[in-house]
Amino acid sequence: MTASTQTLRIRAIRSIPLFGESPKGGWSAEIKPEDTIHALIAVHTDGGPIGYGSVFTDARLVAAGLKVLEPLFLGENALEPARVSEKLHQNSFWMGRGGTLTHTISGIDIALWDILGKVTGMSVGRLVGGRHRERVQPYCSLLMEEPKRMYDVIAEYRAKGFTAFKIGWGPFGRAMDAKLDDAIVGAARAAAGDKARLFVDAGASDAYWPHGLKWALRTAEMLKDHDVGWFEEALKPDAIDDFVELRRQSPVPIAGGEVLTRRQAFLPWLARGAFDIVQPDVTKVGGLSEQRRIAWLAEEFGVKYVGHGWNTALGVAADLQLATALPNVDLVEFIGGSPYVDGITAEPFRLDAEGWLEIPDKPGLGVEIDRARLARYTDDPSPLFA
Ligand SMILES: [Mg+2]
Repeated sequence: MTASTQTLRIRAIRSIPLFGESPKGGWSAEIKPEDTIHALIAVHTDGGPIGYGSVFTDARLVAAGLKVLEPLFLGENALEPARVSEKLHQNSFWMGRGGTLTHTISGIDIALWDILGKVTGMSVGRLVGGRHRERVQPYCSLLMEEPKRMYDVIAEYRAKGFTAFKIGWGPFGRAMDAKLDDAIVGAARAAAGDKARLFVDAGASDAYWPHGLKWALRTAEMLKDHDVGWFEEALKPDAIDDFVELRRQSPVPIAGGEVLTRRQAFLPWLARGAFDIVQPDVTKVGGLSEQRRIAWLAEEFGVKYVGHGWNTALGVAADLQLATALPNVDLVEFIGGSPYVDGITAEPFRLDAEGWLEIPDKPGLGVEIDRARLARYTDDPSPLFA
């Protein structure tokens, strides 16, 4: 880069909602077609490339967040993602840190890294940590179903090439039937085969989760019998003392942290030993700059990092870049059958012969949003384009 290209001013940041075909969440208040729980963000610069990011929250909140943050980012240098994002965090502390503003900054930060990559001709992974690997194993995330249906769904995605699976939410724990829970996981294991990796997500961040530590301990014993690789969100998301105890006693590894935001919030969970696996969401925690710091912290505490940015193609793209930029990442989350992942880019993600995903090494995030395809899931895609 020459001196003349070391500054690229932010001219505007725009967002659009994604709605219409949101996959089921398995939540007790299920997502409706008109609901929007994901927003895409575009950072426009003076004469430079457009950068793209993704935010996992209601798009109306993102639009409001951008308005509030605008005086802080207008005219800023788009080629300094970590500094600009930290400036936004530091100057919005009193206005809802950890919530809407942190979510919004996540999308901005991802987009700024995308711009830096496009301007320098480097993939984001090279910029944020280097290239430790060329590909990574995706685990196919699917909602829990009644056992027979569960078997069929896993078999369908196994036939598509996936070799790792996670099942979660749905009736698990909520039907108050331990035998049913056992049968669901058993059906998933039978369909996935003995060699596949299988993970289980209770989804206790759902409203009015009915169980506590004793249920989680009993259930963990059952999961061990099905060779389950981790037990995720087994307790309410604020129950740190119970998580510490569960991790100490559980025969299967304990995962969580997808609803936490900001690196500061992760620190007590890591320091106290609440998780074997931490799952920050790059589209919520503050973006790639923050996610990288959380993953580095986790490594120092001997906790495994697995990204949770799975909800849109841009979130997956960001997760893939971090999956190569960190030394010990062996999985990314990948939702089975979401149009927001499979249907908005020029080139969809494809599994290789072993069911792994190639990590793009093109400038920026390495994915290209397709305007015509995107138009199916939003009223007006134009704010994302020049
Ligand atoms: Mg989860």
